[in-house]
Amino acid sequence: MCVCIHCHYVDRCLTYHAVETQHEQKHLTERPDFEPVEPSINVNIREQSDFIEVEWDVVGCLSFSEEKGKWAALRPGELIPT
Ligand code: SF4
Repeated sequence: MCVCIHCHYVDRCLTYHAVETQHEQKHLTERPDFEPVEPSINVNIREQSDFIEVEWDVVGCLSFSEEKGKWAALRPGELIPT
C-alpha cells in the first residue's frame, strides 16, 4: 500500500503524480509543485495470463507528513487506491 494516501502533500507531490500516471489514475492535481525528499518506490511486476501488471508503491519518504485519510477526503466516495 502506498503511504502517500495518508500524506499531507499527496495533492501537491511530484512523485505521487508520477505514481498516478503509472497507474493510469486521474490526477489529484495537474500542477504538482512539491518535490519530496528521498521517496522509495517499490515496483511489483506480476505476470498475468495475457498481460504484465506493474504496480508502483511509495513505501517510504523523508517528506512524509501524516494526515490520515487525506486522499479519501479529497475524493469522497471513491475507491481508495491500494
Ligand atoms: S509520502 Fe512522500 S512521495 Fe508520498 S505524497 Fe508524501 S511527500 Fe509525496
